[in-house]
This record gives sequence, C-alpha cells and structure tokens, in this order.
Amino acid sequence: MHPQRRMQYLEAIGVDLWVTRRDGGARAAAQVAPSASPAVPDPSPPPAETAVRWEALRSEVLKCTRCPLHLTRTQGVFGVGPSRADWLVIGEAPGAEEDRRGEPFVGVAGQLLDAMLRAIGLDRRTNVYIANVLKSRPPGNRDPRPEEVAACLPYLVRQIALLQPKIMLAVGRIAAQNLLATEVPLGRLRGQVHRFGELNTPLVVTYHPAYLLRTPADKRKAWEDLKFARSVYQQLSQGAVTDGNRS
Ligand code: SF4
Repeated sequence: MHPQRRMQYLEAIGVDLWVTRRDGGARAAAQVAPSASPAVPDPSPPPAETAVRWEALRSEVLKCTRCPLHLTRTQGVFGVGPSRADWLVIGEAPGAEEDRRGEPFVGVAGQLLDAMLRAIGLDRRTNVYIANVLKSRPPGNRDPRPEEVAACLPYLVRQIALLQPKIMLAVGRIAAQNLLATEVPLGRLRGQVHRFGELNTPLVVTYHPAYLLRTPADKRKAWEDLKFARSVYQQLSQGAVTDGNRS
C-alpha cells in the first residue's frame, strides 16, 4: 500500500495525529511505511463443494435454536467476507445494529474496524473474513454466557475449517478470552502469537473498536498490535517460525 494512503487511513482512526505531534513527521512516515503489504489472495471463486458447504452452514446458523438467544435476536449474524481468506477477524457478538442488519461490525465501531484493517491492506469485501464468537445478539449487549459460547463456538470452528485462515485477530477481551479459554486480562494477551483449534491457527489479540472509540488514547497500542499481526502474517507467508512475543 502507498504510504500516503496508509497515512490517510491512520488519520481516519486517529493514529497518525498522535504519532506526528509527539514524534514528528519523519518518524511517523517510517512507522507507517512497511516493507511489504499482505498479499491479496487469489480472488478466484472457491470450489463448488466448498461454496455449498458455506451456504449450508449459513443456513444452519440462521435457523439455529441451540441456545436461548434465538428467542430474542432479530436474526442470526453469520459473518462477512470472501469464502477463502488468509485473515479472520473475530469479535464477541452482534450488537443492536448488527442484529438489525445481519452483518458483523457495522455502525461506528464497524467503520473504525474497517479503517484499522485498511491500514494494513485488508478489506472485508476482498481479503479478510469477519465473524463473531456468538452469532446471535445477547439482550442489552450483555456479555456472552459460557453455555452460549459452548453452543455457538462449533459454528466458528466450522467457518475456520472452510476459510482456512493463516492468521486470526481477536478483537476485544471477550472474544480473546473465550477463544483462548482463559481469564488473563487483554493487556497481557497482546503482543503474543497464540494458537487456536485443531489447525493450530496463529491468533493475535487487540482491542475492540468500540473500546477504542471510548478510549482513543489506546489507538496507538491497537496500531502496534496490527503491525505485529501483519509482521506475523508476513513471516508465515515466508514459511518462518512465528511463535513468540513482540520484541
Ligand atoms: S447464539 Fe449461536 S448457538 Fe445460540 S441461537 Fe444463536 S447461532 Fe444458535
């Protein structure tokens, strides 16, 4: 991605201004100019069988009554993105706007997430899939209950099997703790390469965009997380070992 365009995206999420005022434009330019952007995957359609399995899974989720959340949701929120993607972003559950529109991460927080992803060359229309741990909205946006996560997580596992991502980005404490089956605070989960599921998919943790809207000072940390995830992805693409902490 052209450095100037990345600067525009960072300005949109409020990162470039923070860096520029503190450290000067030269350092900001150095920080936002990577050696390479993630490769855009082959846009060719998936095999017919894979497409059928995606559609069957989507249909199953939209009709799902496995947990009581089906009684209060407007509709299931399956996920959005291409059928095959190297990147998978996972949040906790649909909010009110997502429940109404049937798509994850829409509204103001979704716009911020899109801007953050664009800053590392990702777009939900082409090369990143976005989903939630829970496919139905908890009433009043309360936290997901363990039994709801247990009921719904198999859908995400099946999405991962179809998508075959190279890297997962968990956004927010709830998503990260549920995916990693831990109660470790989000701050201590950042900056590491975790692993998820039978495929041992690398997983990196960052803040939820709704949190960043309330706490803009942490956007800089989120940008560090995105750069870390991008570097992990680049190492994976080159076949390098990726486990370890951010230096
Ligand atoms: S949250 Fe998941 S398990 Fe519960 S009803 Fe919705 S799709 Fe089914």
